[in-house]
Amino acid sequence: MKRIKRLISLMALVFIGAAMLSGVSAAEEKLSLKLSVKAESIELTWNGSKKESYTVYKKTGKGKFVKADRVTGKKYTDKDLESGETYTYYIKKSKKVRSEQKKTVYVAPPKMKKSSVGSKGVTLKWNESDGAEKYIIYRRAEGGKKKRLAVTDENSYKDLSVKKGVIYTYTVKSVRGEAVSASSSAVRTGRLTAPELISLSKSADGLRLKWGRTENAEKYAVYRKKGEKGKWKKIASVNGKTFSYEDKNVEDRVKYSYYVRAQADESRSIYEKKSISQLCLKAPDGFTLKVSGKKISLDWKKTEGAESYQVYRQTGDGKWKKVKTVKADKYSEALKSTGNKVSYKVRAVTDKGKTAFTAVKSNRGVDPSKPMVALTYDDGPHPVNTHRILDALEKHGARATFFVVGSRVTDYKDCLERQAELGCEIANHSFSHTTLSVSKDKTVREEIEKTDALIEKYSGQKPVLCRAPGGSVGKAAKLTDRPFIHWSVDTLDWQSRSCSKVVSHIRKNVRDGSIILMHDLYGSTAEASEIIIPWLISEGYQLVTVSEMLEARSGGADGGKIYYNGYA
Ligand code: ZN
Repeated sequence: MKRIKRLISLMALVFIGAAMLSGVSAAEEKLSLKLSVKAESIELTWNGSKKESYTVYKKTGKGKFVKADRVTGKKYTDKDLESGETYTYYIKKSKKVRSEQKKTVYVAPPKMKKSSVGSKGVTLKWNESDGAEKYIIYRRAEGGKKKRLAVTDENSYKDLSVKKGVIYTYTVKSVRGEAVSASSSAVRTGRLTAPELISLSKSADGLRLKWGRTENAEKYAVYRKKGEKGKWKKIASVNGKTFSYEDKNVEDRVKYSYYVRAQADESRSIYEKKSISQLCLKAPDGFTLKVSGKKISLDWKKTEGAESYQVYRQTGDGKWKKVKTVKADKYSEALKSTGNKVSYKVRAVTDKGKTAFTAVKSNRGVDPSKPMVALTYDDGPHPVNTHRILDALEKHGARATFFVVGSRVTDYKDCLERQAELGCEIANHSFSHTTLSVSKDKTVREEIEKTDALIEKYSGQKPVLCRAPGGSVGKAAKLTDRPFIHWSVDTLDWQSRSCSKVVSHIRKNVRDGSIILMHDLYGSTAEASEIIIPWLISEGYQLVTVSEMLEARSGGADGGKIYYNGYA
């Protein structure tokens, strides 16, 4: 009995195994094929194995089946298609194992052309797809759902139901019989609100246009018309976060008109016949401001058609006030103190109207409550080292006082011009570096007067301060009735000719109100200046001229007196 039972169970195992094997082959015999039409292809998928090979057969229209490809896996993409054609496929694994035939019509989606936005709506255009009988248009408002909008047999569609300020995404599908293509590329467009033109004003170099923000705008296009008869032209495109444009490509005394369009992809606001116009009247050219102690001198070039010029002044951050209307192309005035920051701008009054204002130019005020230092340089000018020091001062917005030797001034007059331009003070160190204390009265006067005349000639500054060569003033102060300036920090730069020694001496000895003695003849001093100027600023010192310091700390410098410092 036991043997028989064992035999039966063995047979059962064999039977089950055979059934399993036949089950696998039964599944293989039922290859089922699916077709799906994409934008540029037909995709075939079937229930095969990724590792097995299959042959794809294809029939175009009423032609014959041809072997299209042999592939490994269960997917095939056919891109060799013509729009409007019918395709039939089947898949074959072996003689016995093949799929049923599947048929589909391929229609290509339409190729979208540039859309346009008019006062009434959006016009979409596309290239006809071969074999397409009609087209379905879909629309999605930004943030909304895609909706079927219309069906047409034309190659264009005008959407009159657009809301102003909304951006829509449009897609179109081609239709042939039952077949529907994939979606066309998306067209993002709509009718944006036209930007509100806020102002058009004269700027120093041209005209400045300002407009308001438009919802959904990604950029703005600026259009311009020159004169009354010119043509509208797009002159600029700026990003959606910019709401102004300065047009510098303008001719003086010509009227210009502008309008702005908002854009986002192909969306744009339409031109609503609203524009803004302005006569371009440029600011006077070459506006400069020079400071000489308390004296402010303004200068500019003659403006065509100017009848007069209006000078405006601002003290500190206060209100702008008209100071004077002048006929000449310059203006000067004396300030009550050098302590305040004072700014100026000028415009011309011409036969065609007022011009734009020039750029604002300011003196550099001194804050008497804050620490300050006066760097002083003697014995120059020097053709190389003076400029190097001026470079450092200019770079850091600082100024110094240069006690020049009169006999050197004519040769290096460019140094004085630049010193004055940078707001530095130019002072008198005698004509021939003579020891004034032992000179005759007449000589002392001549030494000072000759140098004064040269400084004024080349810098435009009328010098106030003097420094005696060797520091020996003697009777010179009383004789000339001029303030003489000594120092509180002597760097001995002429002796050491060492950059590091000059730098460390200043670092150790400087304090609020220091007058620091150096000489602009030496490379080592220029090098030290390049280090010490930014260092002093970083320590909180204002780098001022001697006159500015004495003005802030002693109420000015009196003739006949000697000053050593500007301690508070
Ligand atoms: Zn000297």
